[in-house]
Amino acid sequence: MLAILHPNTPLDSDAYRQTLHYLENLPGVTLRVHEVQGASQRLTEIYLLGDTKPLDKEEIEALPAVERAIRISEDYRILGRHKDDHRQSGFTYNGVEFSQNNLNIFAGLCAVDIPDHVEMMMRALEDNGEVCTRMGAYKPRTNPYSFQGHGKGCLPWVFEKAGKHGIKVIAMEITHESHIEEIDHCLEQLGRPTGVMLQVGTRNTQNFELLKAIGRQSTYPVLLKRGFGITLNESLNAAEYLASEGNANVIFCLRGMKTEAGQPHRNMVDFAHVPAVKRLTRMPVCVDPSHSVGSREQSPDGILDVMHATAQGVVAGANMVLVDFHPKPEKALVDGPQALLMNELPAYLEDIRLCHETWKKRQDIYRKLKGTASE
Ligand code: PEP
Ligand code: MN
Repeated sequence: MLAILHPNTPLDSDAYRQTLHYLENLPGVTLRVHEVQGASQRLTEIYLLGDTKPLDKEEIEALPAVERAIRISEDYRILGRHKDDHRQSGFTYNGVEFSQNNLNIFAGLCAVDIPDHVEMMMRALEDNGEVCTRMGAYKPRTNPYSFQGHGKGCLPWVFEKAGKHGIKVIAMEITHESHIEEIDHCLEQLGRPTGVMLQVGTRNTQNFELLKAIGRQSTYPVLLKRGFGITLNESLNAAEYLASEGNANVIFCLRGMKTEAGQPHRNMVDFAHVPAVKRLTRMPVCVDPSHSVGSREQSPDGILDVMHATAQGVVAGANMVLVDFHPKPEKALVDGPQALLMNELPAYLEDIRLCHETWKKRQDIYRKLKGTASE
């Protein structure tokens, strides 16, 4: 059971004390208090864990600080969407809103290489009104002899350039918990010119100790990739690990499944799962068409497969696009062959906007249908 308190309930108020006292004394029940800081208000949620079946929902709702109570299922307790659960989705980070209703584009370099390329990428984003990007500093590579990313050495100049070009959020994969400290230390020293969304790669989706470490901090939101060879349920449970440790600012990213059946694409594109994840959880959903498709092949209609896959995700309601671009793909140190080119950026953004508008219009069509059905 979940008890949602009245917004902005002071933790030193009598109402809060009385409520907590009552809940703490319920037999066989333990409590987990979770604070959600929204743009305009603070919400306190109290999770009642253990033997909650005998509890009376109305009795809990009668407690002075409680606004309403929700019976939650076992799965995805914090991030899940439960019956009669109309809580808001998403969060605001560094001035950028992330929700199940809007869309943010994170175009950028799969791997940071030289300052010139980072500069060109960020300038292009600024020129096109974009405030988010992706920049890989810590790269998990299949081959131990491949370029592993510049690591913390590149952080100062990447963050400085981001600040200079008005970039507010950088999606950056980390592969070890020590990287959180490296990123935080660097940002702090520079006076926080930009923000970072910590990315958990598909190879680490079930690295539970890493998930717990990331979940214990709430400074940075998290982009969790779906595991490439596990079920959707297993990947959503991985996301719940982050929330269960305290960080519910999580975006779930579909990036394709590893199977020979996906050929000629690098992975089997799984963007039909966008609405499924939005139904099962309250997380905003991201699609990564670059790592799904993995090439610059194009169809006879003149549109690249990466762009088609993006459109499929966005038209189905995706809330974020994570996509590889590079000013000189032949010089890229990681994943050059799948990168989109700088001169393709404006058209690609226009295409995405069109698809997002189309998704909104599609909702109108079915809303009208529901309206007529009830007449
Ligand atoms: C990436 O986004 O750079 C990446 C390595 O993706 P994935 O973890 O999905 O393979
Ligand atoms: Mn890559």
